[in-house]
Amino acid sequence: MKAAIFSTGDELVNGKTLDTNAHWLSSQLTELDVEIVCQINVGDDKSQIIWGLEQATRRADIVIMTGGLGPTDDDLTRFAIADFTKTELSLDENSLKQIKDLFESRNYEMCERNNVQAMIPNGAEVLANPTGTAPGIKMLIGGSMLFSLPGVPREMKIMFDLYVKTWVETQTRSHTFRRRLQSIGVGESTLAHKLEDLIKAYPDVALGTTANEGIVSLNLAGKNKSSVIKFEHAIKEKLGNSIFGFGDQTLPEVVGGLLRNRNETLATAESCTGGLIGKQLTDIPGSSSYYLGGFVCYSNELKESLVGVSNESLKQFGAVSEQVARELSQGTLAKTNADWAIGVTGIAGPGGKSPKKPEGLVYISLAGKNGVSEVKKCLFGNPGRKAVRLRTAMTALEMLREALM
Ligand code: ATP
Ligand code: MG
Repeated sequence: MKAAIFSTGDELVNGKTLDTNAHWLSSQLTELDVEIVCQINVGDDKSQIIWGLEQATRRADIVIMTGGLGPTDDDLTRFAIADFTKTELSLDENSLKQIKDLFESRNYEMCERNNVQAMIPNGAEVLANPTGTAPGIKMLIGGSMLFSLPGVPREMKIMFDLYVKTWVETQTRSHTFRRRLQSIGVGESTLAHKLEDLIKAYPDVALGTTANEGIVSLNLAGKNKSSVIKFEHAIKEKLGNSIFGFGDQTLPEVVGGLLRNRNETLATAESCTGGLIGKQLTDIPGSSSYYLGGFVCYSNELKESLVGVSNESLKQFGAVSEQVARELSQGTLAKTNADWAIGVTGIAGPGGKSPKKPEGLVYISLAGKNGVSEVKKCLFGNPGRKAVRLRTAMTALEMLREALM
């Protein structure tokens, strides 16, 4: 199946807004085995939108448009679709009612202008928008199925999952069976080497990997379900604890689940990562049941007063040192009464290095009420501040995961 992605909006062509919709849609469709034949971008201009519709419908079996469904004068998508398909627009009473209800529920006054969002080309299907005012439009044009979705990324994603994904899946019911494993601590090339024999043993299953900040996802796909499952088990056996999750599970999610199952709690003291570990944990709903909170302490004074790091250690070894890392987690454990504590100190860079302490040097410590006290020295090099901080957070969570298993 071939797809065209078509984004509209002046802000996209003049460089004010990055077209994240196209990026997201492309990766979603690729996952569904759909080939992207083109991405089109035009401004809020009806003749340009019609041109885009011509190009897209000529090339693709499915066209996904985003943007221009709003109530303002620059929202021209519905008019362009109507002109291009030579159909009239009619008011869809159901959609109008939903728009009215939404305004009422938010206690906003609805103005006349919003009625236009319920105008749908004759013969098209209305795609109800569960979180916004503009419904989407689904319409068969020649041999292409057009999905016109709102531009607002959050609404677009929800509607993609509701309508486009299900449509693609019913069209391409080739029954490809998929599994995904998440691994940490083993690089992509080492993985390929370790799995060489298995890859040969399962020629009917495709294995693809994607790497992101120390985490490698292994994607399995094949027509034969039992083959895919056997391959999955064999990988799990071979890689053991390096596999931390299945499907789209993330490391913070898995660690959170382990803490919850054990009825244990965690607190953090973060220099270098500035609260990133806490952020990653609290991105997950319900995390307050196991994550107590944390200290973000950059100055030596706060390391001492908040967490109880000793002045002597800071003077003797410096803030970025094994000893201070150890005291960060031990101090946090004592101050918060958590079952586990993570302490982090390091040089995220750029700058801040010294002859003995290079950029990317990070000490991560883990302390447990049960007596666990370990410190890991990491040399992340110079991949950039963001990457050092992310890798630090992942490594810290991985240390905790290992301790919990
Ligand atoms: P609305 O009902 O909100 O008016 P719409 O379908 O008319 O929806 P737009 O007005 O085009 O959508 O865009 C709404 C918001 O979504 C804007 O902030 C815009 O910058 C953003 N947006 C639109 N298209 C994209 C895109 N392709 N990538 C990222 N952001 C986008
Ligand atoms: Mg717009």
